[in-house]
Amino acid sequence: MAEVPFIDLKREVESCSDELVRACESVIRSGSYILGKNVGQFERAVEDRLGVKHAVSVGNGSDALTFIFKALGLGHGDEVICPANSFIASAWSIVASGATPVFCDVNDDLLISVEDVLTKVTEKTRAILVVHLTGRMVDIDLFRERIGRKDIYIVEDAAQAFGAHDDQGRFAGSVGVASGFSLHPLKNLALCGDGGIITTQDDLLAERVRLLRNHGLADRDRAVLWGYNSRLDEMQAAIANVKLKYFDKWTDRYIEIAHQYDQGITKLAGKPSVRRRWKDVYHNYVVTVDLAHRDKIMDLMLQNGVQTKVHYPIPLHLQQCSIDLVGRKQILNAERLANSMISLPIYPYLTDEEIQQVISSFNEAFLRVAHD
Ligand SMILES: *Cc1c(COP(=O)(O)O)cnc(C)c1O
Repeated sequence: MAEVPFIDLKREVESCSDELVRACESVIRSGSYILGKNVGQFERAVEDRLGVKHAVSVGNGSDALTFIFKALGLGHGDEVICPANSFIASAWSIVASGATPVFCDVNDDLLISVEDVLTKVTEKTRAILVVHLTGRMVDIDLFRERIGRKDIYIVEDAAQAFGAHDDQGRFAGSVGVASGFSLHPLKNLALCGDGGIITTQDDLLAERVRLLRNHGLADRDRAVLWGYNSRLDEMQAAIANVKLKYFDKWTDRYIEIAHQYDQGITKLAGKPSVRRRWKDVYHNYVVTVDLAHRDKIMDLMLQNGVQTKVHYPIPLHLQQCSIDLVGRKQILNAERLANSMISLPIYPYLTDEEIQQVISSFNEAFLRVAHD
């Protein structure tokens, strides 16, 4: 039985390795390594693609979000509402800015629940971090309408959603006051190292995050605020420029694989709902099963050579660092989902045979544990 790895980063890189090597070589020979022409080219390309006024590249996605909160002036005593099912960096970016994360529940589609957000809003709430988890955009109009408060910022965590858009064609990264993207090797737009982007339509915010990423320096010698050293370097930007050329093709393939899973996975399991006119980019394809069966199904699939993972097995509010910070809370749907979810392998160079192997091993395992 062939092995189907959960992820194999080499396959994508090999598909354009000559171009990547040439791009890196040209950076090495250029003598320009920080905030040079590749970074500028990449930022302008992201602005054009997403229809935003400013794209500011940074060292990673966590810093992208942190800089947004700092640039918005958040700090001690402020609260930011954040979904409990996400990667730890969503919450860290809030903590790093000095504000306090307030965890809220998610819906069955794994995205932040506006109903639960409404129960968590207080006079200290300054922002809501909407996470477009699994490459599926949160319905921002519904959010704005239901929250109904112009004084609460909506910040997008678009780390998993480069290229996703809503039913009006608005891209992830273009609907909130500002957005943070990650270019980590495991994301949809993936570099050979760390990277991140901030997007915003706001000139002043863009100016502030540009300062924050570069020691607060307004020019070579004058520091106008306390800033960080967190820049995308020329080598990674050159890689990003190559990868952007193939990005749409790769995204189409993610969607095609998801479609095959939609068709092939037994309807007895929970699957992502398909939304007409929305573009969901399937950073992960998550199925849900009875929580008493989840681990057994994953074990049986592994015995059939298929690796799966859970995103995420420990909800943010149950992480030790969160309990230490804000005490132990209960968030029901997020906790149930943490024990029910299985992420299936999904990446552009997964072969059709491998997709079929994932489907048959899942269906077989699912039916077997149901009958045990
Ligand atoms: C990856 C990720 C981040 C953090 O990005 P890094 O580049 O790893 O710092 C933040 N939020 C979400 C939802 C992520 O998936």
